[in-house]
Amino acid sequence: MSKMKSWTAETIAIGSELLLGGRLDTNSLFIADQLAACGVELRYKTTVGDDLSDMVSVVKAALRRVRVVILTGGLGPTIDDVTREAVARATGRRLSRRKAALDGMTARLAEWGRTPTTSQFRQAMIPAGADILANPVGTAPGFSLVWKGAYLAALPGVPREMEPMVRDGLLPQLQAWMRTQKRLSASPMIRRVLHTSGVPESIVDQALVGLVPAGSTIQLGIFASPMEVMVSLTGPAGAEGAVTIEQMLRDAKARLGDIVYGEEEETMESVVGRLLNEQKLTLAVAESCTGGLIGHRLTQVPGSSTYVDRVAVTYSNRAKFEMLGVPVVVLDRHGAVSAEVAAAMARGIRERSSASVGLSVTGIAGPGGATERKPVGLVYVGLDGGPGEAMTREFRFHGGDRTVIKQRSSQAALDLLRRWLIKKGQE
Ligand code: ATP
Ligand code: MG
Repeated sequence: MSKMKSWTAETIAIGSELLLGGRLDTNSLFIADQLAACGVELRYKTTVGDDLSDMVSVVKAALRRVRVVILTGGLGPTIDDVTREAVARATGRRLSRRKAALDGMTARLAEWGRTPTTSQFRQAMIPAGADILANPVGTAPGFSLVWKGAYLAALPGVPREMEPMVRDGLLPQLQAWMRTQKRLSASPMIRRVLHTSGVPESIVDQALVGLVPAGSTIQLGIFASPMEVMVSLTGPAGAEGAVTIEQMLRDAKARLGDIVYGEEEETMESVVGRLLNEQKLTLAVAESCTGGLIGHRLTQVPGSSTYVDRVAVTYSNRAKFEMLGVPVVVLDRHGAVSAEVAAAMARGIRERSSASVGLSVTGIAGPGGATERKPVGLVYVGLDGGPGEAMTREFRFHGGDRTVIKQRSSQAALDLLRRWLIKKGQE
């Protein structure tokens, strides 16, 4: 490893809503990934409210302790958006209205059939000597400047605006500037990710024991969330490191087998969509306890209209009977939360839609509705791919609230479909 000092960074998330508990700072997660890929080490994440003097002090502190400072938020047109002012004060620069910033804003508003308001003119006020970072999505331009050997950039808080600005504007500029700074070394990192479903963290952990030898520069990460356990391998991007990471990734996949449902940015719904597309199959879903979540997830994937035929939310027994033809005797005898009803729901939605495959979920999301034999978290998933191709699965999800149980139920249903599609594809 190089003995040269490395590149360090700090993110500053601006907005009182981030402190009051209404909103999580997710911008820094995205920025951390992007910086790591450029060999910049994120050392601090700061969050500060919309208070000018607090902001000035955190910006000053950041400029003293790291070489790259990235601020998000507070660039809007309202009076509480004071990032421009705070940066100007912290760096001793004047603010002035910049034509390039104004032109970009006016052009964007014109596309929406609007003209800038007086307050929006504030958004064109940029500290002297700063470069403008164009905003291809919204109105507020960002800006960047170099101050006493540190690079500082300010971007809008809205993730959808900030992300393309980081990728297309900030990073190319930052990397070009880093190359002019000879004293520091950058050690770009790469990160590879696997997504697993259906097993707890401890099982994944056990399966990967010894994957990364002691003393390796590569780090193994295992992260559990309600819908999955994610595995990451992070290490230096150099030729040797990259080859090692790819080898370890192959080893990890071999060890984990079919619990791995995707890699990198893939989601369960995008993987299922790809498999349905490849086999030219269509899908109909009948949801009870997930209340439409599966339909939402499936239709978040662009192009899903080619394989999603319909999604019915059949919450009541009457809906299960009327819309899916689940026999009343089955509902009465076994209860709505049962393998028998899940099977009848999947068959019902498939037959009534003529889709290639029917998928169903019924369960108890809680906190009420439980009985001694049917606890909160008891969920049945049904799949019906035609005669001889029907199955149900029982799940018992523990320790989650309503949202978590819905999420895990939707994931379990999609995962059952994924496994069935893979098997079918191999026939
Ligand atoms: P706007 O022009 O929309 O006012 P802005 O630059 O002033 O943009 P903010 O007002 O600070 O940005 O934030 C706008 C919205 O962006 C917030 O309501 C919040 O939903 C989201 N947001 C802001 N900061 C973050 C963050 N660090 N992580 C995730 N979301 C954020
Ligand atoms: Mg704002």
